[in-house]
Amino acid sequence: MTATETKTESVLTATNPDHILEVRGLKKYFPIKAGLLQRHVGNVKAVDNLNFYIKKGETLGLVGESGCGKSTTGRTIIRLYEPTEGNIIFKGRDIATMSESELRKTVRRDIQMVFQDPFATLNPRKTLRSILKEPYNTHNLFTKKEREEKVQELLAKVGLDPSFIGRYPHEFSGGQRQRIGIARALALNPDMIIADEAVSALDVSIQAQIINLMQDLQREMGLSYIFISHDLSVVRHISDRVGVMYLGQMMELATKNELYSEPLHPYTQALLSAVPSTRKKGQVKRERIVLKGELPSPANPPTGCVFHTRCPAAMDVCKQQIPQFKEVKPDHFVACHLYE
Ligand code: SF4
Repeated sequence: MTATETKTESVLTATNPDHILEVRGLKKYFPIKAGLLQRHVGNVKAVDNLNFYIKKGETLGLVGESGCGKSTTGRTIIRLYEPTEGNIIFKGRDIATMSESELRKTVRRDIQMVFQDPFATLNPRKTLRSILKEPYNTHNLFTKKEREEKVQELLAKVGLDPSFIGRYPHEFSGGQRQRIGIARALALNPDMIIADEAVSALDVSIQAQIINLMQDLQREMGLSYIFISHDLSVVRHISDRVGVMYLGQMMELATKNELYSEPLHPYTQALLSAVPSTRKKGQVKRERIVLKGELPSPANPPTGCVFHTRCPAAMDVCKQQIPQFKEVKPDHFVACHLYE
């Protein structure tokens, strides 16, 4: 479907009024084309049947190895990529079926993204003032004077000195650029921010400052976050609940405390075993689980459980049957035959 085509919008309510977002059966397949005629010969299943929700004001961390589909999930939720299938229910409406004009009026204001490399998304020829005014210009909001005031408010919110207003992106450090990225994301007073590897390129001390800033803003503005990262320690620090993805699918999703202390899925157990532990006295050291083999291609994922080719606990059934992603304890979901 092209951007100009109109979609038939469906009104869908979330199963729980506390959920700001519900993702149901979300798929994003990228077609593989070959030959002179560019025939469709298959799909890269970047996101394959995801189901999860986010409560108002919470942070959901999404983790997994590079290529597991976590960034594609974020981009599909705000329709930077067109979903192949599924529903994305946000404030009682399905983003997946919204027309472009509805998207502009709602989602493009209410959900914002913060990217890993803010420098790449900041126009090098624009000053900080014009970068931060841009969302107001695009949406035709406020008078000239009010825009100036709003920009000053944004600078104060993200801890940037007002005297920086005439500077250009190259004059800022990595941490300052990420503050600019966050200020720009806040301009339209969103409900949700999707942070895609937002602190991955920063030094550890700067990472902590940006994460603290994001937490302060969350408390102040009631924001909900999807925090996408390959770094389990960072995700642990900021998240309320954490989802673990592998080959486009959600393997496990639970509260932070439960996922990190009692991981159920063999993949989560392997990922966590590689994280240097901060054990308390008397706690048993987690043994390192080294996964065999390479990450399979999402263009040709394994049958049954997509993790079976590397899983130390794989059984015969795992090669044939896809495990259901289901709640095995309150708020603890897992896709694994060991728990069926
Ligand atoms: Fe391992 Fe089977 Fe569970 Fe998949 S379903 S994680 S292969 S035990």
